[in-house]
Amino acid sequence: MHCPFCSAVDTRVIDSRLVGDGEQVRRRRECPECNERFTTFESAELVLPRVIKRDERRSPFDEDKLRAGMVRALQKRPVASEQIEAALQRILRRARSTGEREIHSKLIGQWVMEELRALDEVAYVRFASVYRSFQDVNAFRDEIERLKDKVSPDGK
Ligand SMILES: [Zn+2]
Repeated sequence: MHCPFCSAVDTRVIDSRLVGDGEQVRRRRECPECNERFTTFESAELVLPRVIKRDERRSPFDEDKLRAGMVRALQKRPVASEQIEAALQRILRRARSTGEREIHSKLIGQWVMEELRALDEVAYVRFASVYRSFQDVNAFRDEIERLKDKVSPDGK
């Protein structure tokens, strides 16, 4: 890294430590040319990929919309907000860790279904019924058959 004081091309790291909960690295640097010291903060670039819709249109990753969809599926279900948020964060982490610039909405839908299935099967069926209705009617019917015995008669 260039020295901000004299623009020397190389500077020396004299101290390096994690800050916050480890998501940032604070580095103390010293310039061997002018002996000035300065601090840098380094963090991973966490950019969410763009989303490729079913009709091939691209749109920005919409975290709020994703959360709203999950909350809607979990309406009146015995699942705490913190659990929903944690599930959402896992999905965002997966999206970031693909390293892709664009991912298909179908993949995000699968991740949401995995999370909902683990949280609450009724919410999972609700989401799957909306999500899958246009693309895979048979798979959805199989899923309902599979879950039938697990879901109690009063729909809980
Ligand atoms: Zn310097």
